[in-house]
Amino acid sequence: MVGDGDVVMSDGADRHKHLCKVLYRKSPFADEDCFQPGEETRKYLQEECKVLVIGAGGLGCEILKDLALSGFRDIHVIDMDTIDITNLNRQFLFRSRDVGRPKADVAADFINRRCGHMGVNVTPHNCKIQDYAEDFYSQFNVIIAGLDNITARRWINSLLHTMVEFDEDENPDGSTIKPLLDGGTEGLKGQSRVIIPYMTSCFDCSLDSFPPQVNYPMCTIAETPRLPEHCIEYVLVVEWDKHFPNRKLNTDSPQDMKWIFDQAKERADTFGIRGVTYSLTMGVVKRIIPAVASTNALIAASLVNEALKISTYCGPVLNTYMMYMGNEGVYIHTFEYEKKDDCLVCSGTIRNLSMPAATSLQGLIDSLCADPSLKLQRPSITSDKAVVFMSSPLLRKDHEYKLPMTLRQLVDEGVLGENEVLIVTDPIIPSKLKIRIALT
Ligand SMILES: [Zn+2]
Repeated sequence: MVGDGDVVMSDGADRHKHLCKVLYRKSPFADEDCFQPGEETRKYLQEECKVLVIGAGGLGCEILKDLALSGFRDIHVIDMDTIDITNLNRQFLFRSRDVGRPKADVAADFINRRCGHMGVNVTPHNCKIQDYAEDFYSQFNVIIAGLDNITARRWINSLLHTMVEFDEDENPDGSTIKPLLDGGTEGLKGQSRVIIPYMTSCFDCSLDSFPPQVNYPMCTIAETPRLPEHCIEYVLVVEWDKHFPNRKLNTDSPQDMKWIFDQAKERADTFGIRGVTYSLTMGVVKRIIPAVASTNALIAASLVNEALKISTYCGPVLNTYMMYMGNEGVYIHTFEYEKKDDCLVCSGTIRNLSMPAATSLQGLIDSLCADPSLKLQRPSITSDKAVVFMSSPLLRKDHEYKLPMTLRQLVDEGVLGENEVLIVTDPIIPSKLKIRIALT
């Protein structure tokens, strides 16, 4: 006999009875104008809605599982990585026999095998996100990012903004707006956020809230090491090359890693520093961010809940940022992350810079790269009149002679006009930055 609360596992329709309770009933929390409880909404979710998951790692595995069990059926996943043995403790769609295989393929196979009878179909894409252009991303209704690096998150955030079309009154065309649900975890901390291009703040609006990548100053690691990390870093950047001048460190080789660990331990002992362990060595060398499976599960659950709400309007969507702080007890905070007035991606405004006329072109480029709210890497600059500088390896040669020239000289030579709006592009993101330089 099947009781009221029991679920018949073999029956696909029954498996979604809880989902139907959410989608078939009115809700006092849902927006009355948007939410249409009933069969139509369920059909949209299961027969039309197309979701893309970026990343099939710790967060990605959880997201895929949650989507498949929450009624989503047409799911795509993109990841360029292959499975490493160290992934197996938390990336639960992978087994030891899968080591070396592409994550996207194995994750898709697993979900399809397990949930195929419920109509779920996961399509894998075993490549970089930058390998695809707008036409690929425009087929999805929602995009969920479970990434561990800022570069990829900036890129997809920027691309989704460049895809939005505006009418003549500058109003965005709703059908070109693709919501991005972005999650991230670090040890016991995690965050999820909703980015609706040009409606909410975007990933770049919060760029300066990310700490710069840890790079220990050379003088500290060489002369006055204080932390176990300093000792490991010293062996990595100085001693390895000294001992193995013509061989690159293989971070997947236990012998190489053991050598780094032994040397770092010895150096730490000399300076009376404790705490150099093999796993810390691995962490420093591979720049590993600590991963806790249950934090991934929490953040993935939040992302998929938002995906369900944003696809069906069955409840109010997170506005806009949720932080989970498990490292300080259990503390969750939600707040609206504000748009940044001069955001490179979503503000559309021109940045006004004032610079001494004696600044060189190299100096201008350096200052663009050093700006924590831009974090550019290889900017190219064009003016109305001419190409000011091209950073691509092939074209760079033709423009390098201008690098030592001052901005005043460039104006005099007619390369750029004073107070002219310059366009800055960078391979790191598809957006274009507009700057106007006042010479002082
Ligand atoms: Zn922004």
